[in-house]
Amino acid sequence: MRKPILIANWKMNGSLHSNQALLVRMLSKLRPFRKTMDMAICPPFPYLFQVRDLLGYTGIALGAQNTSRASSGAHTGEVSATMLQEMGCRYVLVGHSERRALYHESDRDVAARFRLVCSANMAPVLCVGETLEEREQGQTMAVIERQLRAVIGETGMAGLVGSIIAYEPVWAIGTGRTATPERVSETHRAIRQFLESCQAGVGESIRIVYGGSVKAGNAADLFQSPEVDGGLIGGASLQADEFSAIGAAL
Ligand code: 13P
Repeated sequence: MRKPILIANWKMNGSLHSNQALLVRMLSKLRPFRKTMDMAICPPFPYLFQVRDLLGYTGIALGAQNTSRASSGAHTGEVSATMLQEMGCRYVLVGHSERRALYHESDRDVAARFRLVCSANMAPVLCVGETLEEREQGQTMAVIERQLRAVIGETGMAGLVGSIIAYEPVWAIGTGRTATPERVSETHRAIRQFLESCQAGVGESIRIVYGGSVKAGNAADLFQSPEVDGGLIGGASLQADEFSAIGAAL
């Protein structure tokens, strides 16, 4: 059985004041779900310390939104995986489409980050997904397989074990457009089948979550399929009521 997981990606939002108010409200609302699912909050780097302290012993994990592709040294402005691990992070997003598109992270860059997160004993949350153009050309699985192969080339299948895959169609992120539940389910199944073809057992055991305009109003439909093990939530994770309602739907 794969345990469901709900991950909040705050992106570049928040302040010391608003984080505190949001978390205080959110933590009490999330209490009923703590035993039935894993949960993680990924704030911007400067707030890791604050969020770690507020999460305390709630059992809700701390995560980061990215890490450097270098392990240490002369990389001004970068944050290493070992630093994140030291700060208490359990999860790190890698290859988010905003990183790939806006900051030109290549499949190889993403794979290097993935390996460093594994080496630092954290779980990478590998974001994969197609653009609208790629989707319209019927390239969805070709794109996702290319993104997965880059990581497999770096760590072998061993790296995938214990990691999480987030299927986030680029055209559904922050747009209010979601993939249909059937489409999400089919894509998750296709990802599992691809991983099973690489190594038996990996596809069936790995958690695959969906991300892209998940809200309280569509979460139950999206999470209905047994192929969907949870959600990676952007905008709606900045509102305690929305995020907890999404948790209730999982
Ligand atoms: P939205 O939920 O705001 O569409 O963002 C999804 C996402 O990118 C999570 O990583």
